Amino acid sequence: MADFRAGFHRRFRARPGRRSELAAHAPDDVAAFPGSKDDAEAVTTRLNRELEALQELLWARGRERLLVVLQGMDTSGKDGVIRRVFEGVNPLGVKVASFKAPTAEELAHDFLWRVHRCVPAAGEIVIFNRSHYEDVLVVRVRKLVPEAVWRRRYEQIRDFERLLVESGTTVLKFFLHISRDEQKQRLEARLAERDKRWKFDPRDLEARAQWADYQAAYADAIARTTTVQAPWYVVPADRKWFRDLVIASVLVDTLRAMKLSPPKPSFDPAAIKIR
Ligand code: AMP
Ligand code: MG
Repeated sequence: MADFRAGFHRRFRARPGRRSELAAHAPDDVAAFPGSKDDAEAVTTRLNRELEALQELLWARGRERLLVVLQGMDTSGKDGVIRRVFEGVNPLGVKVASFKAPTAEELAHDFLWRVHRCVPAAGEIVIFNRSHYEDVLVVRVRKLVPEAVWRRRYEQIRDFERLLVESGTTVLKFFLHISRDEQKQRLEARLAERDKRWKFDPRDLEARAQWADYQAAYADAIARTTTVQAPWYVVPADRKWFRDLVIASVLVDTLRAMKLSPPKPSFDPAAIKIR
């Protein structure tokens, strides 16, 4: 059953310049996995254990850096991925940066200012829960800046991410692709269930009403900023178990490909006697 994962990288990675990338991936497509939901969850649990070990190595080595960008409509599961896929990683070396509507101080700077200060240092994994992409998504849809301003940002984002990559950061970007129907169900659940109600934000309904505009903005953003060095993955996210499986797979494969070996000690352990 291990083989199905081999195709994930290629299958869900967005190809540069193709605006049709979202249409090509159905939010409820789980055909790439040959087993049941329980099987998938078992695989994700194994991948999570491996992620823990790989992250420990990354931290111990203190050299490589990994940036994980999570984007998606409200309820698409950004928080769920952080909880589930990253469960058990060592909080010393993993940080989450959440980006909300900018403060007055943030607005007084260029749009990358607040983002750049949060990128991973050597040995760290940083997860962006929303990101600089909001500046070509919500900002575009709600016309918060003139078109000439947000249009320039695709190139600015590519340049920024190239700088990160050339400085030794691995960049992975995941779009959690949910359907409008699935969002309706998740919003209804948030309203109906007392424990979930805190997550309901009436303003999410405004974004929902502009669904098509957001999809168009996502399609553009992904097509214009997916690169070999900093690729986007379009993750079918209507099924949480499939979403988690795809993301855990891509993460583990990416870390494995770094061939991280434990750091060499700067001393001779045999020569040290502890009294
Ligand atoms: P949440 O992810 O539920 O905490 O909501 C955060 C909100 O902040 C979302 O509605 C985002 O669209 C909004 N947001 C994030 N970044 C920006 C930005 N650069 N400009 C305007 N709104 C933003
Ligand atoms: Mg919200």
